[in-house]
Amino acid sequence: MLRSFKNSCLFFNHKRCLLCQLKHKGKQRICKPCQQTLPWLKAQCLRCALPLRSENNLCPACLRKTPYFDRVYCGFTYSFPIDALIPPGKFNNRTDYLEAICELTIASVCISEKPDCLIPVPMHPRKILSREYNHAWILARKLSQTLDIPLRNDLLIKSMHTADQRDLNAVKRRQNLRNSFSCTKTPPLHVMLVDDVITTGTTANMISKILRQAGCKRVDIFALARTDKPSSK
Ligand SMILES: [Zn+2]
Ligand SMILES: [Zn+2]
Repeated sequence: MLRSFKNSCLFFNHKRCLLCQLKHKGKQRICKPCQQTLPWLKAQCLRCALPLRSENNLCPACLRKTPYFDRVYCGFTYSFPIDALIPPGKFNNRTDYLEAICELTIASVCISEKPDCLIPVPMHPRKILSREYNHAWILARKLSQTLDIPLRNDLLIKSMHTADQRDLNAVKRRQNLRNSFSCTKTPPLHVMLVDDVITTGTTANMISKILRQAGCKRVDIFALARTDKPSSK
């Protein structure tokens, strides 16, 4: 009797996998069989996480010019189905998709040294009004709750409204972002910047430079996914 009650409770505790919609017992929102089909980021640049063919290397861009950030922690390459889940997470209120990928990313990366705080990449207030939320803040909150690291959104602001970066090349991205971010207070010595996708690395590098100029000694980046476009420092 007790056993069947327990089993029925377990049955009701099962949740549906976000990808295959089947019920499963795992803690995460994507079931184990679906997890195995995801495009996990394997061999990657030790600094910027660009996908590489061999491990324990730096990519040509990082060898040519050291970025202002120290390390990128990233779970996936930006390919199917990750590239189909992140946009609705950012633009259509499907924050459960972002949280699902974030859970898996946290479980897959080994953050060897915890930062003093997490900083979500800020959005201009006008953009937050139109989108209703900052997706980077959703990710930083998940990371903060899971790893018990303070979240600070009072250190960095986006003071200029800029055009969407998605359709711009690296040069245009740099021009677009120049002077758009600024530090409002002295940041702690070791911070981790949180964003959804690292594309060319332009945003991450520019903000890392600003944080260093404001007094940071170490800047790490946490992102869900990395495109295979080379960095553009
Ligand atoms: Zn599944
Ligand atoms: Zn690199």
